[in-house]
Amino acid sequence: MLTNILTISVLAFGFITDVSADKKVIWWAVMFFIILVRSFDIFLWYRQCEKAPEVDGLAGIWRFSIGCVLTALGWCSYVILFNQQMDVIEFSTTVIIIAAMAGGGSSVLAGGRYLALVYSVILLLPFSIIGVLDDEEYRNLLGFLGLVFCVIMSITGLKTARFTREAIRTKNQNLALRDEVTSKGNQFSNVNTELKQATKQLNEINHNLELEVQKRTEKIFQLSNLDSLTGLKNRKAFTLQLDNLIEKAVASGNPVALLFIDLDGFKKINDTMGHRVGDHTLIEVANRLSAFSDRERTGRWGGDEFLVALPYSDQGTAMSIASAMMTSIAQPIIVSGNELYLTASIGIALAPVHSLSAEDLIQLADLTMCEQKQSGQRKPRVFSTELKGKIEASQLILEGLQHALEKKELYLCYQPIQCAKENTSWSFEALLRWNFNGKFIGPDIFIPLAEKSGLIKEIGAWVLNRACMDAKHWQFNQTAAVSVNVSVIQLMDDGFIRLLDNILRSSGLPPERLHLEITESTFVDNEKKIRTQLEQIQSRNIHVSIDDFGTGYSSLSQLQTLPVNYVKIDKAFVDNIEGKGDAIIRATLFIARELNCLTVAEGVETKEQAIALAAMGVDFLQGYYFAKPMKNEDLIVWQNPISSFLN
Ligand code: C2E
Ligand code: MG
Ligand code: MG
Repeated sequence: MLTNILTISVLAFGFITDVSADKKVIWWAVMFFIILVRSFDIFLWYRQCEKAPEVDGLAGIWRFSIGCVLTALGWCSYVILFNQQMDVIEFSTTVIIIAAMAGGGSSVLAGGRYLALVYSVILLLPFSIIGVLDDEEYRNLLGFLGLVFCVIMSITGLKTARFTREAIRTKNQNLALRDEVTSKGNQFSNVNTELKQATKQLNEINHNLELEVQKRTEKIFQLSNLDSLTGLKNRKAFTLQLDNLIEKAVASGNPVALLFIDLDGFKKINDTMGHRVGDHTLIEVANRLSAFSDRERTGRWGGDEFLVALPYSDQGTAMSIASAMMTSIAQPIIVSGNELYLTASIGIALAPVHSLSAEDLIQLADLTMCEQKQSGQRKPRVFSTELKGKIEASQLILEGLQHALEKKELYLCYQPIQCAKENTSWSFEALLRWNFNGKFIGPDIFIPLAEKSGLIKEIGAWVLNRACMDAKHWQFNQTAAVSVNVSVIQLMDDGFIRLLDNILRSSGLPPERLHLEITESTFVDNEKKIRTQLEQIQSRNIHVSIDDFGTGYSSLSQLQTLPVNYVKIDKAFVDNIEGKGDAIIRATLFIARELNCLTVAEGVETKEQAIALAAMGVDFLQGYYFAKPMKNEDLIVWQNPISSFLN
């Protein structure tokens, strides 16, 4: 448009003369107006395209084409209107400008094939014809050149138009491709963003899952490796740990000591003060123990039993640490305002000296602890070969005991319990004997083992049955009772009362001829259950004695509430009747009378003892002075050799 304005201005005003001035100005104004309108149309076109890319292109093309044709006609009219007044220079300049305009137009307008053609033809043809038909020779020549140029321009225009079309098509295709690629790219980038988000979410889920798995793993570890109450290692985890420590001890040549710690009388705390206090006590003990070794190397074996492993500890070090532990446990424990005092028994075993297996080592330390607890000594003990011998002997005895009944190695002896006043046999105590492969084993040895292993239930049932059968057939005395020792384990058994009923029924022994002796120390535990059992026994008219009275731990208040008929004064007091035993026996007699109980003194070995006890008011006497325990066949023919010890 600018070129057009420039050229029309050059032509109209560059060669202006007085004759053509008005017409040229008018032509210029018309052309300028057309160019202005076209420029405005083009400006509008671009604005429209910017606002709405899918503008109706055809109307725009038509407007543009009309604009072009009008411009071409404008140029054409210039030649027609002014060629007569043109001199050589103006005519030549006009021809050059028009030819240049046609040349430029054919390429600028090449987008429209016909438009380019029409534009060139309108510009070139009229002026060429005018030139050819003119009189002037130079004009003929220029006209002729114009015609040739018109043909060339038409051909070039068409060709350019084809190329341009191709180019536009290719461009459009490229654009479409680019759009497609962009849209695909956008899609990809959207998918990519979504993928990134999903990955982020997945990572978060993964992270949360990992945390959850970690938490659960820790929980599982705790559940399967730690004791829920104290947080110490449980049996399984501690044993594994100990195995590792033993391996290291073997490799380094430094021993590892294992301490088995058992609280004394903890059950009493649990029973009398409740499980909550018991739990607090155990937690406190666990904390005190773990202060002596790493918490990792401290374990709870069960109930009130703890384990501590001490690497790099020889016998001396282990003993010192164990003593310090005992002192620590002995410090008062304050639970819910109560001050509790505890003691502990500790057994020690060392690896690799005593064993290379964790399980063995624990067992040895446990056995050592049990031995020490039974001995009543308040100091730790290290496992030894002497102890090993003792333990092996116990194991041997226990194995033998398992088959003693079927091998008929067990039998009963009876010891008379005499009436102090008349010196007549009031009862016969059944005492169990065991001939183990020709060797006599005392009940003091095998009964505790039978109780510990649970064999006592079977053996005790046999004793009860045998004693009742024997007593039923005692033709020499159909009124004397048979006193059977009953372990508290038997007594606590739910089937015990049924067993009693069955035996009384099958033997035919009247219940009043059966006495049961229960050791006093056993009354400590589970008083409620014992009372109900004793009430059941009493309701059957079976009498009950407290055996070994004075040696156990039962409190007088407990005795007050338990339904018993007799109190058996322990041999230890009878032995010491010359000394403090006298006072204790008198006190016992006083208590027994208060509780409506009769009294039996056991272990009476001399006439003096018998006289003294009778004089004190003891109701029944038992001991070697009258008779040692005898086999049933000896008892049947037994004659009391002491006619009257009181004389
Ligand atoms: P215990 O019930 O106190 O039995 C009395 C023990 O003292 C018996 O020992 C008896 O032989 C012994 N003895 C009696 N008079 C004298 C004496 O004058 N001098 C001496 N030195 N000893 C005397 P034994 O038979 O060795 O029984 C020991 C313990 O074994 C019994 O003590 C009893 O607690 C337990 N026992 C025995 N047989 C059985 C049983 O069948 N079942 C249960 N559960 N325990 C039994
Ligand atoms: Mg007894
Ligand atoms: Mg006794």
